[in-house]
Amino acid sequence: MAKLDSLKSLNVFKYFEEICNIPHGSENMNAISEYCVKFAEKHSLKYIRDDANNVIIFKSATAGYENAEPVILQGHLDMVCQKTEDSTIDFMNDGLDLYVDGDFVKAHNTTLGADNGIAVAMILAILESDNLAHPEIQAVFTTDEEIGMIGAGKLDMSVLTAKKMINLDAEEDDTITVSCAGGSDFKAVVPLNRVKQTGTKIAVTLKGLKGGHSGIEIDKGRVNADILAGRFLNHMSNLADFDIIAINGGDKGNAIPNLCLIELCVKNPDTFTKNAEMYFEILKKEINERENDFAPIIEMGEKAEYDVLHSDLREKLIFTLVCVPNGIVEMSADIKNLVETSLNLGVLSTEDDKITLLFTLRSNKKSALRFLEEKLKTFFKTIPCKVYTSGHYPPWEFKEDSILQEVYKEVYKDICGFEPKVEAIHAGLECGIFTSAIKGLDCIAIGPALYDVHTVNEKLCISSVEKIFNVLISLLKKCK
Ligand SMILES: [Zn+2]
Repeated sequence: MAKLDSLKSLNVFKYFEEICNIPHGSENMNAISEYCVKFAEKHSLKYIRDDANNVIIFKSATAGYENAEPVILQGHLDMVCQKTEDSTIDFMNDGLDLYVDGDFVKAHNTTLGADNGIAVAMILAILESDNLAHPEIQAVFTTDEEIGMIGAGKLDMSVLTAKKMINLDAEEDDTITVSCAGGSDFKAVVPLNRVKQTGTKIAVTLKGLKGGHSGIEIDKGRVNADILAGRFLNHMSNLADFDIIAINGGDKGNAIPNLCLIELCVKNPDTFTKNAEMYFEILKKEINERENDFAPIIEMGEKAEYDVLHSDLREKLIFTLVCVPNGIVEMSADIKNLVETSLNLGVLSTEDDKITLLFTLRSNKKSALRFLEEKLKTFFKTIPCKVYTSGHYPPWEFKEDSILQEVYKEVYKDICGFEPKVEAIHAGLECGIFTSAIKGLDCIAIGPALYDVHTVNEKLCISSVEKIFNVLISLLKKCK
């Protein structure tokens, strides 16, 4: 190793480097799980490893803390594996190539996996220490968080007796996260009934939109390409005679589609094109502030016979795309500027015999999430289709009487000189699964500053690790 040796002597970085040497992308959890077990054995700590490769390590309270309530420290073991095009890394077998650049640790040509390896490293450093003061620690390392919080979902929480939990999967060091969204996926599958139609094929591509994360960026004014396609077709249906061959936009539920491809069979292509171009000018003007790269394209194809959607279905599809709820549904009344409930049509795909619409639903309130699901079910009763819900995960609701929040703010202010921001996020964290399984759990999420996570530019701020580690051990000391 030794590349990070020049850093401060905190063992946090020693462990971080060891973790980076072990391949630990999602679904490749055996070795990293084994590493945690070896660590526990080496330090004579009690541990549990389950079938999902989750590991819990228990460390007794230090002198004077025997009567204090235990605390859960938690992070996830898996990382998102991204690499540059010319990288030769084999994520199944190779470790990362770390380097230090000023106040940052980075990895050559890959993600760094500081999300969430740095959490694991900080917790191991605390478990190893013999000079820190703390209550009993129940260290929980979960697996496959990045692909749907699979490990946390399978974890047997009955072995955890703590009612306080510090999750270390947050990415801003001046912020304390106190609530996160729950969510689910909603899919509508519309069987297709096609008929033959003769006309000119026209392909319209709505492109140049920004797209983005369906939770974090749902309030940034990003235009959903699929919803825009519905608006465009609805407008055109009054001006030109056309049928729909196919419409496709987006490939995952949790991303706002930035492109939609519409294939039409058009009776009078010149009229269609002229009107479409006029409407694009109007749309560009309207959304220019937030989507200044919007660049629709119209391509003229052959005149021929095509299999098109039955006109009934065309009408119903346009109705759906125009009227289905999408985007922000409700802002929070408890927390300023927080989107409380939202949804995103992330995938619209046409196959020979069906059209699939996939939505990602989110809410920081359980009952609101349930209502959103009911609302969509009711909406889709208006068109012949089958609906499916899946991938439910619970929200972490804001806890007004949180002692951890108060103590963290105090300790943070002592060390940093100012109070941290208190924030709720409109995306999922494992805290939702823990707080819904452990009654009365008082939970906060914190972490050192990370930038560009899930990309090859991911970087971890070294001084921020030192700061947050310091705050964390001071916080534990106060948990009497
Ligand atoms: Zn993470």
